[in-house]
Amino acid sequence: MSDPLIIDMLKCARCGKCRSLCPSFKTGESKWETTSARGRVLLSLGLAQNKIPATKQLISDIYGCFFCKYCSELCPSEVDVSKIIEVTRATISERGLTPNPVQFLLTNLDESHNIFNLDQEDRLLWAINVEEILEDRVCKKADVGFFVGCLAAFKGTLSIIPEALTLIMDKLNINFTVLGEEEWCCGNPYIIAGASESKIKEIATHNVEKMTELGIKNLITSCPGCYRVWSFMYPRVYGKLPFKVQHSSQFLAQLIKEKKLKITNSQNLKVGYQDPCELGRHCGEYNSPRTVLEAIPNINLIELENNRENSECCGGGGLVKALHPSLALNQGKNKIKQYHSYKVDLLITACPSCFENYFTSLESCDTKLDVKDLNELIAEQLDLL
Ligand code: SF4
Ligand code: SF4
Repeated sequence: MSDPLIIDMLKCARCGKCRSLCPSFKTGESKWETTSARGRVLLSLGLAQNKIPATKQLISDIYGCFFCKYCSELCPSEVDVSKIIEVTRATISERGLTPNPVQFLLTNLDESHNIFNLDQEDRLLWAINVEEILEDRVCKKADVGFFVGCLAAFKGTLSIIPEALTLIMDKLNINFTVLGEEEWCCGNPYIIAGASESKIKEIATHNVEKMTELGIKNLITSCPGCYRVWSFMYPRVYGKLPFKVQHSSQFLAQLIKEKKLKITNSQNLKVGYQDPCELGRHCGEYNSPRTVLEAIPNINLIELENNRENSECCGGGGLVKALHPSLALNQGKNKIKQYHSYKVDLLITACPSCFENYFTSLESCDTKLDVKDLNELIAEQLDLL
C-alpha cells in the first residue's frame, strides 16, 4: 500500500463521526468497531503496516462496506475512508484472499465478459419488446452509443430500464446504437474488488474502441457504476475518450433544457428520489435527475432530510450482497421505512443496483410504496409503456 494512503489513515482523529453514520454499521447486527467506517480504517492501517494478518474476519468486515463514500464526505479530517477500503480490498486480492462469492463473480467476468457467466449472445434478451426498434441499430454507426450494462441486460426485473430508454430515444428520433454481444462488462466489479489496473485497461480498450468504430459523439448509460467507470477510470487507463459520456439522467435533462423532451401527461404523485452513491458522492451528479423529475407536471418531489451528499446508501453497493446478503436487504428495508414515513407514493431510482435492492427489499415490507426507474417513469408519462 502506498505511503500517502498510510499518511491518510494516520490523519484519522478517531472522532467517530463516520462510525455513527456508517450505514453498514448502523444496520449490521454486529456492533463490533471493525464493522464501522472508523474500524475499517484501523484494520486497513494494521494490514498496511503488516501488524495484523488478513484474517477471515478482517476480510468479511472489509467486504461489509457499501462503498457508499458517506464516510469520506463527512470526515472532518478529510480522510478518504472509502478509498482506503478500496485499496485494502486490492491488498486482499494481491494476497489471493478475495472471498469466494466475490471471486466467483470475477471468474465469471474472466470467462464470459459478464458477471452472470451467461452467453454473450444473450446480451439483447432485455430487448424482446423493442426488437423492431433495435433491428437495424446493433453495432451500427450512430450519434449516440447506449451502453446497457450487465445488470440491466441480464436481470429480467431490470430489463424495463433499457427498454424504457430505448422507447424514449426512438420517440425523439435519436440516432443511437447498442453493442449487443460486443459489449463487455464495464469492469466495475473488478475495481470494487481491488483488481489490478491491467484488467480494467483490457476491458476499457475493447469497449472504447468498439464504440469509437461506430463514430458516436455521445455515450450514455443508465447505470451509475458504468458511468463512473467510463467517466473516470477509462480515461485514466486508456486515455482521452473521443466522445462525451453521460448518465441517462444527464442525457434526459439536456433534452428537456433543449426543449426536445416535453412531458405533458402526468398524474398527481408524491415521489421520493434515491441519490445513487456512485452517481452522487462518487461523481458529483445530484441535479440532473431532479431536473428530469421537476419537468413532470403534477409530480411533487419530496426530499428526505438526508439527501444529496448526505443520502444514505440503498444497500445495493460495494458487492456487499455477495458476502452479506441480509445486510444489503436490511439496509434496503431501513431506507424504505424512511420513504414510507415521508408518505411518498413512489420511490424513483436512477440506478439498476438501487432498483434491484429496493425491489427485493419491498417484498418483505408492509407498505404500498412502489419503486420505479427514472427512465421507466418518463416512458410511462410519454405513454410509451
Ligand atoms: S470521521 Fe474521519 S477522523 Fe473521524 S473517525 Fe472517521 S475517519 Fe477518523
Ligand atoms: S463507504 Fe459507506 S458503508 Fe463503507 S465504511 Fe464508509 S460509510 Fe460505511
